[in-house]
Amino acid sequence: MPTKTINIRYDCARCPGYCCSYPRIEVKTADIARLAKHFGLSDQEAQRKFTRQYRSDEGSETILKHRKDEIYGSICRFFDTTERRCTVYKARPAVCRQYPNGARCGYYEFLQFERKHQDDPEFIPSA
Ligand code: SF4
Ligand code: SF4
Repeated sequence: MPTKTINIRYDCARCPGYCCSYPRIEVKTADIARLAKHFGLSDQEAQRKFTRQYRSDEGSETILKHRKDEIYGSICRFFDTTERRCTVYKARPAVCRQYPNGARCGYYEFLQFERKHQDDPEFIPSA
């Protein structure tokens, strides 16, 4: 059966990585195991080093730790804030692989709209 191709309407190479600045990037057991293998660590070591628990009324979830970022305030600890890219792309969590779940990215469209209106191809609006 032929595979369905979608016409991707965003370009992450032209974006400063807004989605990586989400405060809650949830990771599951398989994601931690993949990151552990990538860095030659045990799963427990990877969990301790790369993640923290987020607790709310709905329960608890394991999320990636953040680092400081001059554009968004904070961003995923695996994000290279100079090159503006993921440093663990091949080992990135499932949620990062799935995003933005389709052919369009809302932030990228907002970015393009603002850059056009500001007449500045490098303009970065605050989200
Ligand atoms: S916010 Fe959208 S365009 Fe920007 S890096 Fe994430 S998926 Fe790519
Ligand atoms: S693991 Fe990579 S793709 Fe996922 S949020 Fe962190 S920097 Fe972004």
